[in-house]
Amino acid sequence: MAKRYRASAANVEDYWQLFVNRRAYVLQSMRPHPESGRYYYFRPKAGKDSEPLSLTEATIARHLEGDMTIGVYAMNPATQCCKWIALDGDYKDSLKHLCEIQWELRQHQVEAALEQSRRGAHLWVFGEEPLPARKCRVLMSGLAQKLNIPVKGAGTAEGIEIFPKHDELKDRDFGNAVRGPLGVHRAIGARFWFYGADYSLDNQLAFLKRVKKLPAEQLDAVIEKVGRPVEPERKQTRPPQRWQYPQQRLQFQILDHVEVRRRAGRNWITRCPSCAAAGRDRSGDNLAISVDEPQKYICWAGCTKDMIRASLGCPIPERRESVYAAG
Ligand SMILES: [Zn+2]
Repeated sequence: MAKRYRASAANVEDYWQLFVNRRAYVLQSMRPHPESGRYYYFRPKAGKDSEPLSLTEATIARHLEGDMTIGVYAMNPATQCCKWIALDGDYKDSLKHLCEIQWELRQHQVEAALEQSRRGAHLWVFGEEPLPARKCRVLMSGLAQKLNIPVKGAGTAEGIEIFPKHDELKDRDFGNAVRGPLGVHRAIGARFWFYGADYSLDNQLAFLKRVKKLPAEQLDAVIEKVGRPVEPERKQTRPPQRWQYPQQRLQFQILDHVEVRRRAGRNWITRCPSCAAAGRDRSGDNLAISVDEPQKYICWAGCTKDMIRASLGCPIPERRESVYAAG
């Protein structure tokens, strides 16, 4: 079991200053999911029908003391800015890759703090002022590209994940949250600390406060020096746009209606909309769409084309054979 700490008011204030972009937050479940065994994050509510809770000092204290574990959102949609950039690596070479990025950042006088994690590590850069999410992403994608480090989603299943994950959020969106540092991971009942300071709340927070913060102006300058990523990070996993198939322009195109999740061999894979309508295919991999011939698609659970089209609100029209004869 993780050692219990008493979180002081100063600890809570420091934590808030470092990590909280907005009052919305997520909570890690105390018990594993009965099927997957995983400890999911959810937005906590006071009661079934109430609004999700907002973050308070008391919640931060309980997180630091290890009674509950929160996740913090990367962006504030009101400003499209972030207090921090976090890189998550959970694959075999991820610690090595994050250390390379940390070293490269240091060449540009940018300090980054490395945090242990369950399967790899997280690398954090803190802003001296709110940093535009779009620029945070450009910097990290550019660095990863320069160092030949894979970014998850850019044509690879394995790679670092960049938080913020979005350039922009709509007002009602939340984007992605990251496990709040210095808390206890529910699955293993242990705390993950930052490298570089003694393993106690006071020392860790003092260390994080000392890490040099990145001003917006320097972020711009470093982006110029590192170079922008050659291609927008997501482009390679996107299926071709429909205008690349002029002969099919007027036809129904499933790719106009679903967001693909990944590529597997010659198919795009995603959640079957018909299965989804019935609450199935939670793993999001029943629908396969041919890469070469995107008009061909199949649900492995057996939904018919009619069912899939109907669930997308584009039912297959009934055949009207006489339509031309009349003209
Ligand atoms: Zn289906």
